[in-house]
Order: sequence, then C-alpha cells, then structure tokens
Amino acid sequence: MREMIQLPKNSFYTEKLAEGCKYCEKGSKMVLLVTGLCRSNCFYCPLSEKKKNRDVIYADELLVKNEEQILEEGELIEAEGTGITGGDPLEVADRTVRMIKMLKEYFGEKHHIHLYTSVMNLEKVEKVVDAGLDEIRFHPPAETWNDIDSTSLKKIAHEIPIDAGIEIPLIPHMEEETRKLLISAEGYDIDFVNLNELEFSETNFKGMEKYGYEVKSDISNAVRGSEEMAYKMLGWDISVPIHYCSSSFKDGIQLRNRIMRRARNVAKLYDVITEDGTLLKGIIYGNRESLKKIRNEFSISPDMMGWDDEKGRIETSPFILDEIADRLPYKCYIVEEYPTADRLEVEREPLN
Ligand code: SF4
Repeated sequence: MREMIQLPKNSFYTEKLAEGCKYCEKGSKMVLLVTGLCRSNCFYCPLSEKKKNRDVIYADELLVKNEEQILEEGELIEAEGTGITGGDPLEVADRTVRMIKMLKEYFGEKHHIHLYTSVMNLEKVEKVVDAGLDEIRFHPPAETWNDIDSTSLKKIAHEIPIDAGIEIPLIPHMEEETRKLLISAEGYDIDFVNLNELEFSETNFKGMEKYGYEVKSDISNAVRGSEEMAYKMLGWDISVPIHYCSSSFKDGIQLRNRIMRRARNVAKLYDVITEDGTLLKGIIYGNRESLKKIRNEFSISPDMMGWDDEKGRIETSPFILDEIADRLPYKCYIVEEYPTADRLEVEREPLN
C-alpha cells in the first residue's frame, strides 16, 4: 500500500492513520502478493502481465519459488509488517491463512499484517482473522459503490474484531458513486477510508483511455483529475477518517525507504549506496578465470572484487574500476541498479 499524504485539516480529516500506513511511511512493510488471481476485473487494475490472473507469489519484487524465500525477503528489508495483496488473497484463502501464521510465527506477534480484498465473504474473512490478521482493507468492486448496502460489507465489518477500512482509487468520472460509498460507510463499522491517486500502468492503458484519461505530467503515471478529486472531497461532510495517498508519495517515500532498507543488507563492500537507495557498481565483462588475474595484477583484495554468478560478470567498486578500466581488455561500465530481487538496472556508463 501507499504513503499517506496529509490533506489540509477539515471536519472529516483526522490524524488517525490506518495502522498499516504508519509502517508504509518507513517502507518497513513487505508487499506479499499471494496470488495474481482475482475475479473483479477492474478497468484500472494496475497489475503487471507477469502477475495479472496468474497464480504466482511475489514477496516485494521476488518471484517466490519456496515459501522460505518470503521470510528471507522480510529479513532483507527488516520488515516490521506485511501487506498481503493480490490479485485477491481470499481467492486462495487457505494459502493466505498459512502465510499469516508463518509470518507471525517467524517475526512475532508484533509483525503487523494487513490484507486487501474485494471478496465479500464472511467465512473467508473470519478464516484470515482467526489466523492472526491485524487489519483488513476492503476494495469493493466499482459497480457496487452506488449500492454498497446490497453487499455483505456492512455485516462483515460488524462481525470482525479487527480494524477494517475501505481502500479505493479516486476515479474522476465516478465522483458521485464515490460519494455514495463513503456516505454509506459512515453507518458501517469502518475505521478509515484510504483513497489512492489513480495511476496508469503497463496493463491498464486501454481501459483508462476508454474514459479519456491522460497522465497529469511527463514525469508521472498519475491520472489528471484524480488528485483534484481528493481536494474536492474536503467539501464533503463525511465523518469517517479519510487518508489520501498520492502517486508521488508512494514512489518518492515508501518505495525509496523500502529499497534503502534492502540496500543496507544486500550491498557488497565495494558497492556504493546512492541517496535514492540504488547501488553503483563497477562491472567488467571478463570471464570467471580473468577475475583472479585482474585482482593479482592490480593488488585488489578479494572482498573488493567478485564474480556475479547471476549476471555472469565481474563486479568491483566504481572508484577502482574508474582507475583501471583503460588498462583492461574487457568492456567496463559503471552501472546503477535497484537493490531489489529483480536487480533492475537504471543506468550504465561505459568506461572504455
Ligand atoms: S480487485 Fe485489485 S487485483 Fe482485482 S482486478 Fe481490481 S485492482 Fe485488480
């Protein structure tokens, strides 16, 4: 989930943040996608091709092959909690129960777990609550916002003993439906409402274009008009605590803090951690045999130059490589990459 940005105070905005949001601010929650399966088919669904409608598990950017890797990823970001997402976690309720129990057992009771779902099924919700879930965020399908009373949300929110919220995107052409949903929610046992700035993703362009949406600027994926809707809501007389989370806050604070936490734990001695949490490395496209030769020739200690098995290259400090690149018969670069499991490369600069 995302960072909460503070709207100007008014009658309905309060300082009370959803528990999960406090952890978001520090980037200290792991994002656990327990499945990409979901029946809601929202036109704005931001899930990427590799996740959408696929029964896969991701812990942050890591494609999970065995469930122990989830705990390892949690260790690497020093997770204080987990946000369980999908797809819809209740499509695989038994798996989700198993994950909640595993996380609580390993990281302790204090590890705060929240979950998103659009499935309004009391039995399934009770299963995950009994497993130790701390907070649930309902994402009712958009076609129900006009008449949310016809769903089981009110009953479910009343029955469960944990914090319950509603979390939806701000869709400019659905202002009236959003208002109706929030007015109804006032009469439910709903503790907070989280509103997210609507965003374009690699998969939802077609759906968004149908409604004539555009990005709000060249450097943002956010939809023009979505943030304005948040400010318009200041005039609405709604008593449930509302939090607004902008696209820039999510990327600028939450993601940055999470990758910074991971960078501290995965950086090699020779890596440089940038202020954005990315890693700068010197890389040499020599083979494994040439590693020892280069180390000996330039008297470089083993902990300052190593073999990167995953990418099939030699790595060292960008400062060292800057000094020696001209004297090497291999292609050399300084690369900047994310410290995430997918090690996404941001930039590379050739040195020779
Ligand atoms: S509920 Fe979430 S995962 Fe499912 S289609 Fe809608 S946005 Fe996508």
